[in-house]
Amino acid sequence: MKYISTRGDRTLRGFSEILLEGLAPDGGLYLPAEYPKVDAATLARWRKLPYAELAFEVLSLYIDDIPSADLRDIAVRTYRQEVFGTAEIVPLKRLEPGLCLEALSNGPTLAFKDMAMQLLGNLFEYELGRRGEQLNILGATSGDTGSAAEYAMRGKQGVRVFMLSPHRRMSPFQQAQMFSLQDANIHNLAVEGVFDDCQDIVKAVSNDLEFKRRHRIGTVNSINWARLVAQVVYYFAGYFQATSSNEEVVSFAVPSGNFGNICAGHVARMMGLPIRQLVLATNENDVLDEFFRTGTYRVRKSAETHETSSPSMDISKASNFERFVFDLLGRDAERTRRLFKEEVELHGSFQLLPHEFARIADYGFVSGKSTHADRLATIRDTFERCGVMIDTHTADGLKVARERRQPDVPMLVLETALPVKFAATIVEALGREPERPAALQGIEDLPKRYTVMPPSPQAIKDYIAQNC
Ligand SMILES: *Cc1c(COP(=O)(O)O)cnc(C)c1O
Repeated sequence: MKYISTRGDRTLRGFSEILLEGLAPDGGLYLPAEYPKVDAATLARWRKLPYAELAFEVLSLYIDDIPSADLRDIAVRTYRQEVFGTAEIVPLKRLEPGLCLEALSNGPTLAFKDMAMQLLGNLFEYELGRRGEQLNILGATSGDTGSAAEYAMRGKQGVRVFMLSPHRRMSPFQQAQMFSLQDANIHNLAVEGVFDDCQDIVKAVSNDLEFKRRHRIGTVNSINWARLVAQVVYYFAGYFQATSSNEEVVSFAVPSGNFGNICAGHVARMMGLPIRQLVLATNENDVLDEFFRTGTYRVRKSAETHETSSPSMDISKASNFERFVFDLLGRDAERTRRLFKEEVELHGSFQLLPHEFARIADYGFVSGKSTHADRLATIRDTFERCGVMIDTHTADGLKVARERRQPDVPMLVLETALPVKFAATIVEALGREPERPAALQGIEDLPKRYTVMPPSPQAIKDYIAQNC
């Protein structure tokens, strides 16, 4: 399989070439030159496979420059019961007939980002070892991404992580998760500032191309294709668990921020997985709901971006979204480049033409929005009627799933985090603390390892230079 850019660079690149890259050189996102199609016989064969073997099969369609035996070994080492808690890896939890959660958040950091990041850690270690290279990952986090990256990269050969977070602004649980890691290759940098300051520093350091090259700086953000393809697997695994034959269709509801998770659903559908609807749920930051309702994509300013109780969906623009628009436009790279490079960069928005907007229905997408009051009501209702405690992001997904359900089509809501990560809102909704997995009892009391830094790109550069 070869990869192309959404903005017209037709240089064909192999998976190993794009694995350690962020954006394509022309500023676009990488996509496979075409989607491999999965026929009925293949679906029937895959249905019987354990998760790691299914992952190997899906990955094999997209990765042909890693020997098969090595790729299988990587998949088997990644998707283990000891890491993800159950033999199914992504078990379904039934809420009521035709409606269930797909549990994606039983990995080390209790959010679905582990599903992809754990694989990425093993792929990076493999590829860097093969090349005899080192990589210094620089990132900014307000919680979920940073901890998933650190738990995936801890102790890995050839990789160091420098993770910026806003000093004293993460929840005690999230801080404890990250700062209790004692691995020498993990560097927690608590920046005296807010999340935006952290992101600005990462941008400033990355824009210093000389520094970036000299210190082999890389990222693990959600535009990385390897993360996306890892997520495709659990759409297949969810489908197989929810159905008994490949004649049946299902729908998925996905709480969305950067459009990474649901984009993997789009890819699974393009491969031929029988998905009726892809239900996209936003919180108050409704950039994507607005797009799917109106065909207008309008990036928000920082001041218009709300801090909500589903914070991992608090985005001003959806960094993976260009991939879907490229497909929607019949893979017209010139049109995609005009919309994202010219219109968005100049005016902060674009509007699809009516015939372009009309095609969205062919891709199964519908959308909806959920607010803080909706989250509280959904968490309460789900606990009272189904006896299941859900987190705030999953609540956004479930709220919109209920609005969009169709008779006779099973709906799978992706559970993207466990409630313990967002305890304050659970207490507000239910008047009690969320359950906590036994392994995480008392993590707030563990010794913490982090360095407080001023909000200065130069200070961060100096730190990296001294520690790599
Ligand atoms: C990252 C995240 C999301 C949003 O996922 P995208 O791929 O950015 O759309 C939703 N819920 C949780 C808990 C997350 O950590």
